[in-house]
Amino acid sequence: MNTVQGFYFDTVCAITAEADESVLNEALQLCPSYERLMSRFIEGSDVWRLNHAEGVPVEVSEDTLTVLHCADSVRRASGGAFNIAVGAASKLWKFTGENPVIPSDAELDTAADELREFFIAFEGPFVTISPGACIDLGGVAKGYICDKIADALRERGVESALLNFGGNITTIGLHPKGRPWQVGLQKPDAARNEAVFAAVESTDSAVVTSGVYERSFVQEGILYHHILDPRTCRPATSNLVSVSVVSESGMLADALATAILVLGAEQGFALTQKYGVQAVLLTYDGKLTYTQDMRLTLIQH
Ligand code: ADP
Ligand code: MG
Repeated sequence: MNTVQGFYFDTVCAITAEADESVLNEALQLCPSYERLMSRFIEGSDVWRLNHAEGVPVEVSEDTLTVLHCADSVRRASGGAFNIAVGAASKLWKFTGENPVIPSDAELDTAADELREFFIAFEGPFVTISPGACIDLGGVAKGYICDKIADALRERGVESALLNFGGNITTIGLHPKGRPWQVGLQKPDAARNEAVFAAVESTDSAVVTSGVYERSFVQEGILYHHILDPRTCRPATSNLVSVSVVSESGMLADALATAILVLGAEQGFALTQKYGVQAVLLTYDGKLTYTQDMRLTLIQH
């Protein structure tokens, strides 16, 4: 098996497969091209143009359109717990930078008011968003991109692969040893790729985890993390510490993992039913719950 990796979408992206390294590198090179479409930080990207359009319709690529439609569906279904317009709040918290800050209550309340007014409209390839809105596809795009890169690998004849894009896992076929891939779910307090509390079987599916331990900081004993409740523009306060969603669609799994982390278990499970996906939820006090058809192996330490 070969592995290639690079740093895209502000995280390490790795592809492991039974294939020539050249095939894997070619697939990995799709990352920067998707980044040029969907990053809000790259001038001229679809998202950048939308954020600077001041309410004028913008023609976007088919890829971006697909992601925006999915995000819109999950926004409605989650009652606004998932909302890409949260970019306006992420900007204030600066979680992606070196020095996150705690914005003032006044700033956050104003951002929350503006978010309530957010609209997005579709007409063919044209998209219109509210003037002044700032969308951020960080909660959904990586899932879509993993789906597309897996498709590209399949087209090149790859029959066994695992993509790991910073917690977004997508598998192709079976592990070379002939069994399903086992995807480890990381303990919230462990460093990445260290202790896992459970493993999920995956074959041609995505396992996407949202956790409050990613990009977080502690100040005066309070944990501030990057998954924001768009209704308050403050870090989500459900008692969930991590949510993993399993689906054939990495895009959907990504958006739903973020949404469920905001909503909490009860409304979260309603969402898994609505979309027909499996999920594993972990609370701060270590309580594990999961959907009925979830194939989970618990790992004791
Ligand atoms: P990861 O950072 O591991 O990909 P997520 O998929 O949960 O984790 O995405 C978190 C990112 O999504 C944040 O960095 C931010 O850009 C955006 N985001 C945060 N909260 C929300 C939300 N409630 N709805 C939509 N996007 C969000
Ligand atoms: Mg997500």
